[in-house]
Formats: sequence, structure tokens, C-alpha cells
Amino acid sequence: MLFRKKTPIVQKHLVEQTVKSSIDHTSDVIAALADPILILDRDRVVKHANAAAMNLFGRVMVGRNIVQCMRQPNVIDAVEQVFASKLSWMGEVKFPAPVERHLSLHVALIGDGEGVAITVRDTTLVKRTEEMHSDFVANVSHELRSPLSALMGFIETLQGPAQDDREARDRFLNIMIQEANRMARLIDDLLSLSRVQIQEHVVPNDDVNIVAILKNITDILHMKADIREMMLNLYCSEEAYWVKGDADQITQVFQNLIDNAIKYGKPGTPVDVSVRSLERMPDKNVPAVAVDIVDHGEGIDENHIPRLTERFYRIDKARSRTLGGTGLGLAIVKHIIMRHRGRLQIESKVGVGSKFTAILPTKS
Ligand code: ADP
Repeated sequence: MLFRKKTPIVQKHLVEQTVKSSIDHTSDVIAALADPILILDRDRVVKHANAAAMNLFGRVMVGRNIVQCMRQPNVIDAVEQVFASKLSWMGEVKFPAPVERHLSLHVALIGDGEGVAITVRDTTLVKRTEEMHSDFVANVSHELRSPLSALMGFIETLQGPAQDDREARDRFLNIMIQEANRMARLIDDLLSLSRVQIQEHVVPNDDVNIVAILKNITDILHMKADIREMMLNLYCSEEAYWVKGDADQITQVFQNLIDNAIKYGKPGTPVDVSVRSLERMPDKNVPAVAVDIVDHGEGIDENHIPRLTERFYRIDKARSRTLGGTGLGLAIVKHIIMRHRGRLQIESKVGVGSKFTAILPTKS
């Protein structure tokens, strides 16, 4: 019993010591926190603000009343509410300037009302990801809806007015197969994109011979180039260029880039594919292989270039559709190259043509 009675006294002493020393070092503890935090006293004066809070609110706050250094009336209201009710408050606040930010705020009473602690979590990235996700779903639904509506329209016409019109039936069936193919391509591209994005953090590890892949692709795409009276040229030495990669995905990168060069190049002009080695990748101290795909098409205005790899971004939507595009080809290319820790460079001149360069680190 004696032993039992003594223990809590020792523990209480220890706890008091710990609390006392942490109170003595409150500002150090607050400074060490990664998330923004503000401590106000009962007069609403900021007693402590860590570097993250200063960064976020962008001004010197310590020693000033919260009303003077915070423009958000809902935060001030929340502080008053917590002092009055002695209950914590949690809510979302939007800071419009200088860059719009979404913050999740938590205001809690300290002790019996000596002050409040305001902790902040920046949820901007989460909000943006949510918005991008819903934009993406809206885009996919829209892209699938138009071929689907066309199919439904033709089916109704074939069931009704064109039932006995053999010529119209053949014509409509032709369009229907094209629309169905468009939906199939879109689904294939969406699946490729999601597969690549899932694997993006894992660098592939197979030994891949870039030249062998390019020879295969150019053999396959020669026919398509012929139809547009274009020459598809592959320039490379007999040297084998090996990279650590995923052969199927690297094939997809060059298939998409060369296919685009054929689609967007002018009929009768050549498409040149050349392979060269780089001593160092741009901004990385590793050797690499660079593949340039050059076309002589209309070129791309520089305003569009940074956005080309966004999903569904097309300069001329109708043209991309007629050429059988989904608007996902370059997004797939970008993610595959990112997975391989490489770079995609795009140079273009309106009226002259474009050069897409895929740079992949070589096998060490
Ligand atoms: P798409 O299926 O529409 O070809 P991509 O993602 O492959 O989709 O390309 C996106 C857009 O970039 C295209 O719609 C086109 O406007 C532009 N683009 C891509 N490659 C070229 C090129 N070689 N020359 C001119 N424009 C190009």
C-alpha cells in the first residue's frame, strides 16, 4: 500500500516538471512545428507564431492584435466564438490572395481561457486534386457521350425511317463502326494512362534497346506515312542504345510521337526520327539517349506548348477528332517518360514544323 501511495506523487512531480519545462520552451516547441500555428492571449494579442504561420499569413504578427494582422473576418469570429463558448471550432477558410489557398483551421481554448491556439492545415493541394479529378470525370463523360449519342441516333434511324434503305444502312453502319472505334480508342488510352500513373513511382528495370524499338515502329508506321505521301526516315548509328525501361511503354511513347508527326505533318513532307547519345541529361548528371522526332507541319504556337501534355488538351478539337485522336496521346507520353525519369522537350515554329525530343537515361 505504501508503495502504491508513493508512486502517484513521484509521477505527479515528473509530470509537473515536464509541463513546466515545456511551458518554458513554448516558443521553441511552436517553432519546431511544421504546420502553421498561432497562440493568442486573452486580449487577442499574438504571443507566438511559427515560421510556417508567418509564411502563410505573410506579415509580422507577434505582439499585434489578431484583428490588425488578419483580414479574414470569419477567423476573428471563430476566435470570439471559442472564447465565449469555451468549445473548439473547426472550419474551412478560403484565402483569395495572392494565390488562392484553401485552409482548414482549428481554434482551441488554452487552459481555462488564457488564450487560444489556432492551427492551420493547408488543404489547397487536396482541393485542387479533387477539382482536377471531377474535371477529369466530366471530360471523360463528355468525350464518351458524343460517340455514344451518334451511335444511338443511327440505331434509332435504322430502326425507323431508314429501315428499308439499303444504301443509307451501309453508310450509317460505316459511321457507326468509326464511332465505336473512337470509343474503344478512348477507353484503351484511359486505361494506359491510369496504368502508367499507378506505376509512376516505380522505375522500370528491364534492359530495352531503343533502336530495335524504333525500327519496329517505323516499319509499322511506314504504311500510314505512305498514305499521306510522307517519307518516314530513321537516322541512327549501328550502336545499340540501351535504357532501363519498360519496352511496351517505351514503344507507346515513340508510337504516339511518330504517329502525331505523321498526322500533323504536311502531306508530302518527311518525318525524321534520329537517335543521339547525350553525355548528361539536362539538369541531371547521368548519360542519356535523346530521340528527336521532327515534322514539317503547321507547327504549334508557343502559347499552346506548355499545355500540350494535359489530358484532353487539343489545339483544334475537330481536326484531332477527324484524325482519330483522343487528346490523351501526349499525356501518356509525358507520364511514361516521367516514370523513366526522363524528359520531354517540345520545340516548334508556326508554319515550319515541330520537334519532339524524348530523353531517357541510359543503362548504367
Ligand atoms: P491527339 O489525340 O489529339 O493527337 P495528343 O495528346 O497526341 O492528342 O496531342 C495533343 C494535341 O497536340 C493535338 O491535338 C495537336 O493539337 C497537338 N500536337 C501534337 N503533336 C503535334 C505535332 N507534331 N504537330 C502539331 N501539333 C501537334
